[in-house]
Amino acid sequence: MTRIIDGNDVASDVRDGLGDAIATLEDDGVTPTLATVLMSDDPASETYVSMKQEDCEEVGIEALDVELDPDAPAEKLFGTVEDLNADPNVNGILVQMPVPDHVSNRDVIRAIDPAKDVDGFHPENVGRLVAGDPVFKPCTPHGVLKLLEDADVETEGADVAVVGRSNIVGKPLANLLVQKADYGNATVTLCHSRTDDLAEKTRRADVVIAAAGVPELVDGSMLTEGAVVIDVGVNRVDRDGESTLVGDVDFESAKEVAGAITPVPGGVGPMTRAMLLYNTVMATGRQTDVSVDLP
Ligand code: NAD
Repeated sequence: MTRIIDGNDVASDVRDGLGDAIATLEDDGVTPTLATVLMSDDPASETYVSMKQEDCEEVGIEALDVELDPDAPAEKLFGTVEDLNADPNVNGILVQMPVPDHVSNRDVIRAIDPAKDVDGFHPENVGRLVAGDPVFKPCTPHGVLKLLEDADVETEGADVAVVGRSNIVGKPLANLLVQKADYGNATVTLCHSRTDDLAEKTRRADVVIAAAGVPELVDGSMLTEGAVVIDVGVNRVDRDGESTLVGDVDFESAKEVAGAITPVPGGVGPMTRAMLLYNTVMATGRQTDVSVDLP
């Protein structure tokens, strides 16, 4: 019987645990605050930001909503980030990507104070993660590790195929999985668009994590019996004239072979959202020297 790993359930446990940590902070007179900065009129970006704000409010994190005209000069965004860096009441800063073409993504990431970089994308935080001394783990890879933990998946000594080498998912995930740490100690094969014979790599893996942004790239024929399959992909496709969401895994064929699998939606997505809250609470504890127990 294939286990369906329920991301909503695990995310809800993380949120409950964060509620206790937030209560501890409140007892010390501290309200964790996340500033979201939106410099876009793309409806998807607007939706992502409002979801993040709702998530914050639900657990007791204050959400500071900063919206900038997408046509404003880049200096406007950098000035805003500088002000938020300096504001002692702001604990976390999230600039919703992508920013307009006239603003450099790379420079925005570097402008955020690493202590408030709850996305974990600043080079200082990336470097610490690679060096085995992470502070903020990027939300999606961290969420994937939590799912593996909840499903009692032993990564030590396991062969793991990560499909996708982006800076926000594939690369940090591969780095976390090889660390000498809990839910690390794996042997990781990091696959990407130039990988030769992807199926041969995934078939060898005890755990397959798909983050390629290609609808249903990994199907059952590419898996070994009993493999654990984590599907990070979120792709909108047209099926029989209807728009629907699918992952990077062909769920129906994969579930016939897998030992455990995440669905889309309801797998990694809720975890990404929960881990942003986690990083914000962690940032708040570190900045205020209040000791908080994180879930
Ligand atoms: P990206 O486009 O930045 O990177 C995709 C990676 O996949 C690249 O490294 C590329 O080399 C690799 N790739 C592309 N085609 C491939 C192929 N045929 N075979 C092997 N590798 C291939 O994407 P991303 O930002 O890492 O996101 C990946 C997917 O995960 C997307 O569907 C995205 O929407 C989704 N995503 C979901 C969450 C979530 O919370 N669920 C969070 C982030 C991203």
